[in-house]
Amino acid sequence: MAGKNVVSIGILSFQGDYARHDAMFRAIGARTVAVRSVANIACLDGLVIPGGESTTIGMLIERFGLLEPIRAAEIPVFGTCAGAILCARTIRESEQLTLGLIDVTIERNAYGRQVDSFEADIASHELGSPAVRGVFIRAPIIRATGSDVEVLAHYEDHPVLVRSSRCLCATFHPELTDDTRVHELFLSMVTQRCACYTNASIGASSSESTTQ
Ligand code: GLN
Repeated sequence: MAGKNVVSIGILSFQGDYARHDAMFRAIGARTVAVRSVANIACLDGLVIPGGESTTIGMLIERFGLLEPIRAAEIPVFGTCAGAILCARTIRESEQLTLGLIDVTIERNAYGRQVDSFEADIASHELGSPAVRGVFIRAPIIRATGSDVEVLAHYEDHPVLVRSSRCLCATFHPELTDDTRVHELFLSMVTQRCACYTNASIGASSSESTTQ
């Protein structure tokens, strides 16, 4: 972000509802970049993996050579629904690709089939009042979380919004409502990391100048 006034949020734009994330981040003042190739990953401050079909998105991540570049980028990643599945360290009873960015075990389609999709109010201290409206579309369930994963919201005892130093994952679709709070939360993770990076650079250059 050094030298820029706004952060750049990359949105993986192969399949799924990437356009809704794009609109959401632009509405809250971020610059957005459609990510479809390795070249798009350079210069990003954060990356979104949208909801959709995790097997398809995973296959395209591999086909376009993005697996290692995303893992190596060390930028905050925001996964929603299929995106959360792809961020998970472990997908229960599945051999499909995962980026392994956050220490959770997740189970695909765990509420049932498409017709079992639902909406529910999701309370979260982190997001404040009122509750956010959770849109769950053939959603996964997070079955286990590692010690470095913070659970920010539950639905029926299952974590539905989780955060680590690297990732924010929602098993629901905040981009399908008009409520920008979950996107703002991710943006704050990105800007905090950028501020640390900028301060570290300033620290490094001022200590260089004092030793000269
Ligand atoms: N069921 C999808 C999957 O397993 C996720 C659905 C979604 O992203 N809404 O990939």
